[in-house]
Amino acid sequence: MAAPQGNMYPDYPPPLGGEQEKYLLNSLKDFSIAHGLAVRPTPSYVSPETDPAVALATTAPVTLFPSLFPRVCFEQARSVIGAYNELYSAIASDETWLGEIIGELIEIDDFMANLWNVHMKVKKEGYAQTLNLGLFRSDYMVHVDPSEPQPSVKQVEFNTIASSFGGLSTQVSSLHKHLLSIGAYPESISSIVSPSSVPPSPSVPELAKGMAKAHEAYGKSSGGLQTCVVFLVQDPERNVFDQRHIEYALNENHGVRTFRLPFGRVLQDTRVDSDRKLIYTPPHTPNRQYEVSLIYFRAGYAPSEYISQEAWDARLHLERSAAIKCPSVLLQLAGTKKVQQVLATPHSPHLKRFLPNEKQATEVLKTFAPIYPLDTSTAGQEARQLATDPATAARYVMKPQREGGGNNVYRKAIPELLKTLPETQWPAYILMEMIEPPAQSNVIFRNGESQKGGVICELGMYGACLWRQGEGDGQREVLENFDAGYLLRTKGDDSEEGGVAAGFGAIDSACLV
Ligand code: ADP
Ligand code: MG
Ligand code: MG
Repeated sequence: MAAPQGNMYPDYPPPLGGEQEKYLLNSLKDFSIAHGLAVRPTPSYVSPETDPAVALATTAPVTLFPSLFPRVCFEQARSVIGAYNELYSAIASDETWLGEIIGELIEIDDFMANLWNVHMKVKKEGYAQTLNLGLFRSDYMVHVDPSEPQPSVKQVEFNTIASSFGGLSTQVSSLHKHLLSIGAYPESISSIVSPSSVPPSPSVPELAKGMAKAHEAYGKSSGGLQTCVVFLVQDPERNVFDQRHIEYALNENHGVRTFRLPFGRVLQDTRVDSDRKLIYTPPHTPNRQYEVSLIYFRAGYAPSEYISQEAWDARLHLERSAAIKCPSVLLQLAGTKKVQQVLATPHSPHLKRFLPNEKQATEVLKTFAPIYPLDTSTAGQEARQLATDPATAARYVMKPQREGGGNNVYRKAIPELLKTLPETQWPAYILMEMIEPPAQSNVIFRNGESQKGGVICELGMYGACLWRQGEGDGQREVLENFDAGYLLRTKGDDSEEGGVAAGFGAIDSACLV
């Protein structure tokens, strides 16, 4: 991470003296652990002699300073949250349209085919639940167009499943404000950073509120059981505290009972009764049963989780139940990069179909970066030219229909990969222009080490949407649609991927400038 060229704020963040850095890091570490800004350590950090009964946590990777983020960009991203909630709830409610888009992928992408198959099986039987909950995160980077007076945001992707870090994000803006308030930063910082320039992120209470609204809309158990919300999780999970913050807010603010259910235990610990209610029996209290109002997926988004037929059986089991799914299979599929591409391909007619409000559609359109299919359509043929020529491919990223980081192919590696991939497989990917945010610096603290240098920031805006599916395609009634806080993730500018959990980035907060 060398000092970046063209930095508008070359003196930010200011250098730290030895004692100053020690004070800052000690304060940061204690605040982090005391406030659950924490992750479980990687196994390589745990001594083999450590008794597995001991609870271990370490600080989550964070930046030492809030990164500078243009206020106009932050406001722009916030202003379209409601429109994006509308857009994706509409897409997930239009099974025919989604079927056509996903249909192109089914032959060449088994994971997409299997997910679609789950939907088709439940459709045949009839869905037992019309309520849907989306807890979304729309991710952006700052884009500078020299012909425009102001920078703007361009969307990296839209997440409809397991949008993470909402639990920790709230704590990071608090951490940076705390460090500012105790004078842990050099004096010179005050010309840029003040308590009011770092917006709080209410993602914990707001995401919990989204779940509470769904839980409430589900209603009481008809069989006299206590209702509960189930967090469907991976096991093991290093990012457990991120999820726990939301769980605790759901307990404390709304009095909702919650459980963590590993994906691999769905068939053992739950059953679908004759009314298709999802009944959960906690292994620690086998005599007690709960009716599940909502399943919140923090698992089930990666093919590696579906290693056996049993896992697909478990997914079908949940989908056909009357519990509200966050997300349903259709909503998960609405969040594919393919759908994003279909909306964002230049001159695409599809956005208007789902966002009839012209003003909203115009604002959403402004956030799209150019994305192309890699199929045999006219746009696809053009994209194939761009992707196979190393000179032009250097401005692009190629993405498969996957989530969770580590799946994309960048720049010059694109033509290399395409050489080895049969052309029939190419339509499984989309080609997207790289967004090149302006240069800035920060210090990333992860695994006990500080690294200073050029960084790239990605802003995520959370949105919550609860709706009731109607009879026909696209028919629905939106019951709740609200903003749910923000996330800033920051990575070294020498890394293409930014995933915090995948080990490349850090959680940050925005200092609006
Ligand atoms: P995932 O669903 O796996 O998170 P993303 O589309 O978010 O996939 O891509 C992962 C990372 O790759 C992003 O967090 C970002 O750092 C980088 N990236 C993806 N698309 C772009 C783009 N168009 N411009 C710049 N960086 C990108
Ligand atoms: Mg992403
Ligand atoms: Mg994603």
